[in-house]
Amino acid sequence: MRVLTVIGNRPQFIKAAAVSGPLRAVADEVLVHTGQHYDDALSQVFFDELGLPRPDHRLDLGGGSNTAQTARMLEALEPLLAREHPALVLVYGDTNSTLAGALAGAQARIPVAHVEAGMRSYDRSMPEELNRVLTDHASDLLLCSSQAPAEILRGEGVGGEIEVVGDVMVDVAQLLGPRAAARTETLARFGLTAGAYVLATAHRAGNVDDPVRLARLVALLAAVPYPVILPLHPRTAARLDAAGLRARLEQSGAVLAPPLGPLDFTALLHSARAVLTDSGGVQKEAYLAGVPCVTLRAETEWTETVDAGWNVTADLDADAALAALERRPPAERPPLYGDGRAGERVAAAIARRMGV
Ligand code: UDP
Repeated sequence: MRVLTVIGNRPQFIKAAAVSGPLRAVADEVLVHTGQHYDDALSQVFFDELGLPRPDHRLDLGGGSNTAQTARMLEALEPLLAREHPALVLVYGDTNSTLAGALAGAQARIPVAHVEAGMRSYDRSMPEELNRVLTDHASDLLLCSSQAPAEILRGEGVGGEIEVVGDVMVDVAQLLGPRAAARTETLARFGLTAGAYVLATAHRAGNVDDPVRLARLVALLAAVPYPVILPLHPRTAARLDAAGLRARLEQSGAVLAPPLGPLDFTALLHSARAVLTDSGGVQKEAYLAGVPCVTLRAETEWTETVDAGWNVTADLDADAALAALERRPPAERPPLYGDGRAGERVAAAIARRMGV
C-alpha cells in the first residue's frame, strides 16, 4: 500500500515525525514537501533533529497569498498524484499544504486521511480555520486528538469515518522532552535562568499583519515584568522591521532570537516560568510540559487546556495577559491528549481503512 503524505511547514514536520516511523511499518510512504516553509531554520533543522526521512518530492512552492499558494500546490499535486498513484493521501493540521493535499486527493478520488481533524476556533477570518473546515469535509478518515473534536465533526455531519487516536504531538513531546532537558547550554546561550523567564512566540496573521495589532503585541511584550525570549518567525521579523518596532522590543530588554530548532525550543519551553503565544502547537506543548500558558488570541481550538486551568486566552489585552501570568497553575494536569502512541494508531487506522 502506498501512502502519499503532504507536508510543508514547521508544525507539520513535527507531527509527521511521530507518524512516519509507524506508517512505514505498514505502508510505503511517499513524502511530499510543498516548500510552504523553505527557510532552513523552519524546515531542514526539523528533519535533522527529529529524524524525519528526506522528502521524495520537494515542490518549492512557498510565498504569495494563501489563495495563490494553495492554487500552485493544487496544480503541482495533480500530476504528482497521477504519477505516484497512492492508495491514500495523508495530511496534517490546518495549513495551505493541508487543504491542497486534501482537495487534490479528493478530486483524484483517492481517499484522504486528516490528522488533527475537527479542531475549530469558529473564527472564519483565520486562514487556518477555513483550511480545517474544508479539509475535514473533503476527508475520508478523520483522525482526532481527543473526544471534543470528534464530537464537533459528528455535529457537522462530516461524510468521513471519525476515530480518536490521541495527539501525535504527545508522542513527539515524550521523545524530545528528555533530550531537551539535557540541553542546558540553550539557556546559557541566551543568558536565561531556569524558571525566571517567559518564552513568547507570535506569528498569526491576525496579530502581526495589522500594524495596530502588531503595536499592541509589542506593547504587551514590553510590559512583561520578567525577561522575555522571543524566537522570531520570519513573518513576524519582517512585519516588525516594516513597522519600525524591533528597536522598541529590544529596548524593553526582550531577547530576540532567530527561529529555533525543536531541541532548543523544547529546552526553553521546559524551563520557562510561563509561555505567551498565539501558536496552536505551543499551547499544547506548554500543557504537556506543565508550563502555564497565556494565549494571545481571543479564542483557542485547544479548549481543554483552558478548561483544565493551564491556559488563559487574553487576546492582546496587556492587563489580562499580565494578570494571567501571575496565576498559580492548578495542582492537577490530566492526560488530555492521549498516551504518546498516537502515531501507531494513525498508522493502524490507515491500514485498517485500506484493508491491509
Ligand atoms: N517551534 C520551534 N521553534 C521556534 C518556534 C516554534 O521549534 O522557534 C515549534 C514548536 O515547538 C511547535 C511548532 O513549532 O511544535 C509550532 O509551530 P507554529 O507556531 O509555527 O505553528 P502552529 O502550531 O501555530 O500551527
